[in-house]
Amino acid sequence: MALKKELKKRVNKARLLGTVLKDSLVLNIKRRSRKKRFFSSELKAIIVDMDGTVFRSDTGLEALNLKFPRKMEGNVSEGDFIYRRLIRMVIDGECSVDEAIVLGTGILSTRGLCKNDFRRVLEEVKSKIRQDLLSALKEVKEKKNPLFILATLSSEEFGHMLNEYLHSEFGFRFDGIVGTRFKFNESGRVEGVSRAIGEKDHEIKGIPVQSKFSAIRQLFEEKGWVFSPANMVLLTDGYGDMALIKQVTAILVTQPEPDFVQKMSRRLRLADFIVEDDARMADGLKSILLHEENLTHPGDGPEASQAVL
Ligand SMILES: [Mg+2]
Repeated sequence: MALKKELKKRVNKARLLGTVLKDSLVLNIKRRSRKKRFFSSELKAIIVDMDGTVFRSDTGLEALNLKFPRKMEGNVSEGDFIYRRLIRMVIDGECSVDEAIVLGTGILSTRGLCKNDFRRVLEEVKSKIRQDLLSALKEVKEKKNPLFILATLSSEEFGHMLNEYLHSEFGFRFDGIVGTRFKFNESGRVEGVSRAIGEKDHEIKGIPVQSKFSAIRQLFEEKGWVFSPANMVLLTDGYGDMALIKQVTAILVTQPEPDFVQKMSRRLRLADFIVEDDARMADGLKSILLHEENLTHPGDGPEASQAVL
């Protein structure tokens, strides 16, 4: 029985890898067909992922730790255990990223997750904010003035709280925010999800799920901004943004300890650029976003370069 389960896991993992490979192939073909260099003078919007990118942490994990602090075997908190279990389920193909978000929210709401907990999570992540990344973005804003969009699978409400903090503390503000929307009751408790951000546009148990791409497009329409994926750059730490990586120029920010998804993203060269999380990060980002000659796609073959000429 255990063997059967183990085999099933391996098959699922192989399936996931197959999807990644297929996506990578599609990506390369798409890139080639783009036949165009991207110049920073054409930069109109920068989409920034939140968890793992703006800060070296995950709000889902922080919230679970807050609501499930009991230590278990090996000094691991119950929240940490639940988080790892959810990630494992996604990797093993037992559920999709979108289902894991809805499931995680359900688990948190059984513990009475409320707006005040969002404040506590914000306190937890403050010390983990990538200040060098923010200062680089601030400089890009001053010199090129693109729109900055914070796009997260996590809470939109939390994104707004973070934005206020970034503005008061670092003088940087996102122009727009898309994220998962929770339903709150009168006392501020989370009662469910009214709109989730996930991998694709669909519904889970009656809850509308939108991809980041389509939520961003909707935001642009609402704000009256021109939506032009060819003039957008995505800054992210991982595979959760696979769909977006395919649509826009992508910069992958590495983690000190890369996880499975990060390793795969790197190995398959899913991003157009990779910026290492070290002392040179801000300079690396600025050189990509501010200097014309650097904004080319390293994945493009010579035939693509010729097509430009
Ligand atoms: Mg992330």
